[in-house]
Amino acid sequence: TGTAPLLELRGVHTYYGQIHALKGLDMTVKEGEIVALIGGNGAGKTTTLRTVSGMMKPRAGQVLYAGQDVTGVPAHTLLGRGMSHVPEGRRIFPQLSVRENLEVGAYSVTDRGLIEQRIQEGFALFPRLKERENQLGGTMSGGEQQMLAIARALMVNPRLLLLDEPSMGLSPLFVEAIFDIVQMLNRERGTTILLVEQNASMALGIAHHGYVLQTGEIRLSRAAAELARDETVRKAYLGDE
Ligand code: ATP
Repeated sequence: TGTAPLLELRGVHTYYGQIHALKGLDMTVKEGEIVALIGGNGAGKTTTLRTVSGMMKPRAGQVLYAGQDVTGVPAHTLLGRGMSHVPEGRRIFPQLSVRENLEVGAYSVTDRGLIEQRIQEGFALFPRLKERENQLGGTMSGGEQQMLAIARALMVNPRLLLLDEPSMGLSPLFVEAIFDIVQMLNRERGTTILLVEQNASMALGIAHHGYVLQTGEIRLSRAAAELARDETVRKAYLGDE
């Protein structure tokens, strides 16, 4: 695992109107790591990713990316700097074909040859997408849409990939396939990954480090393997009796 922090949150407070969703979050994601963020419903996992990727602006605190203060920097600017966010619920374009969805993902890339190369890399990762190149995104199955959302996020060859619940609504076989690919991206391309998951055991199974979030606050920060062994974590998030 890496040493230098690629991402840091320092005392981050994020609100939805009066609702205080993140209450002074401190987090570090080192370059080259997979970091899992786990926690129950409404803990603030999605809000954390939105705050990192510039979709939401924190009311207080700082977000640092690649050594720079990026607090309040808009999402499209961060995307241009290699931070790619796969949001909750996938958000692919239903009226565009698979290929067109991938092309939209590459909007910050201008070199046609490079775009085509990345499309082919996406097809190599997800052969199902190649078979469905001209199919409309909206007619794909849930698992296929998740693959498309990830392939689209990879079109910028991200340095930091933010993944929000990639396993949601997928059959066990698809979940395995997605997690294998996440691990492969990290090992073979060195992509740093911040992974939000309800499926805590799978997430901790591939992560280096884990954070447990509870009502907007970090409760635990440990090596992922340690968290997976922790009795309280097992009872609360891993479904142990
Ligand atoms: P889940 O696993 O259920 O998706 P989460 O950990 O991702 O939960 P968030 O979606 O980040 O949690 O929500 C954190 C808090 O912010 C919750 O109390 C939620 O009700 C609130 N919240 C989230 N989105 C909005 C919104 N658009 N407007 C108002 N409140 C919101």
